Amino acid sequence: MNYIGRFAPSPTGPLHAGSLVAALASWLDARTHGGQWLLRIEDVDTPRCSPGVDRIIIAQLQDCGLHADAAPLWQSQRSALYQQALERLIVQGLAYPCDCSRRDIETEMLRRGQTPARNTELIYPGTCRPTSSQRHELADAANPSAWRLRTDQTASTVHWHDGRLGPQHQDVASAVGDFVLKRADGCFSYQLAVVVDDAAQAISDVVRGEDLVDNTARQILLQHALGLPTPRYLHTPLLLGANGEKLSKQNGAQAINTSDPLAALNSAAAVLGLPAQSTNVPEALQAWVAAWASLQSRA
Ligand code: GLU
Repeated sequence: MNYIGRFAPSPTGPLHAGSLVAALASWLDARTHGGQWLLRIEDVDTPRCSPGVDRIIIAQLQDCGLHADAAPLWQSQRSALYQQALERLIVQGLAYPCDCSRRDIETEMLRRGQTPARNTELIYPGTCRPTSSQRHELADAANPSAWRLRTDQTASTVHWHDGRLGPQHQDVASAVGDFVLKRADGCFSYQLAVVVDDAAQAISDVVRGEDLVDNTARQILLQHALGLPTPRYLHTPLLLGANGEKLSKQNGAQAINTSDPLAALNSAAAVLGLPAQSTNVPEALQAWVAAWASLQSRA
C-alpha cells in the first residue's frame, strides 16, 4: 500500500495543544501504515498569516519528534497551479465570477425570506450564477472578482466514509451553495488549494481535526470536477477550550511549550485515546504507534 499522509497547518499562529492533536494523529497514522508523512504550510490566505510562524511551527514539530519525510511545501508559492485548476473549471463552465459582498448576500437572503447566519459563511443564493447556456471566457480569469464553483451542474450530494466517524453525506448545493474558489483580493480559497495540493503530493490519507469534517464534501466535489483522486479521510476528536468550543487562538490557546515536548504530546495523545507515556519523546512515539495500530484495527 502506497500510503502518503500530511499535516497542513495554516501559519496564523504557532502550534497549540489542539493543532498538535492533528499533527500527532496524522504522523501516527502514516507511521502505522509504513507510509510517508509530509508537511504543507497552508499560507494561501496571506492576510491571515503571520511572518515567521511557519518556521516556528516547523521547529515545534521537530521538538516533538515529528519529522517530515520530505521538504515542506508552501502554498504561497503555488498560485500558478491553483490558477490552472481554476481555469480548467472555467473552461468546463463550472466556475463563474461573483461581485457580491457579504452585505449583498444578506440582502438577497432577506429578500427571499431567509435569515442569514451570523459569523459563518453564508449559503450563496446564486445571484451572479450565469444561466446554464452562458459560459465565461478564460480571459475573464484576469477579472478581479471572486470566483465561485457552481454546485447546480452535477449531482451535488457527496457520500464518503470517514475512518472514525463512519458513513457521511452532504448535499453541497443546499448545505453550502456555490462556494468561493478565488477571492476578490486574489487569494485562492482553502478548498481549491487543498484539493490541488493533496493531489499534487499524491496524498492517500488525510488525517485532520473534526472541525474540518464539514469541508470534505466540498473537496470531494472539486476532486470530481478536476478529475483528481479522492484520498481516504479520518477526522480526529478535538481538544475543546474552556468555553466548550474547539481550542483555537481566538479562545485563548497558548503555543505548546516545547521545553517539555513529552507533556505537550501526552495531552495530544489523551485526546486520541492513547495512554500516557513517561519515558522520553522517541519511546513515547514508538509506544503510541503500536497503540494507534491496535485502536485502528478495533475501529
Ligand atoms: N490548514 C488547515 C488548518 O490549519 C488544515 C487543512 C487540512 O488539513 O485539510 O486548519
